[in-house]
Amino acid sequence: MAPSTRCLNCRHRFEVERGADTAECPYCGTKWRISWMDPEQPKVQGKAE
Ligand SMILES: [Zn+2]
Repeated sequence: MAPSTRCLNCRHRFEVERGADTAECPYCGTKWRISWMDPEQPKVQGKAE
């Protein structure tokens, strides 16, 4: 299963490509900066722009 995190804007969980620095929520379109606690746990750090 792909790693996923929760969007801070719309609260949906969405999948994040492993190792990605940024990810876009497919539900609301917000772009987020992503950090990784470990290879399976992406964490939203803030808006990407
Ligand atoms: Zn969202």
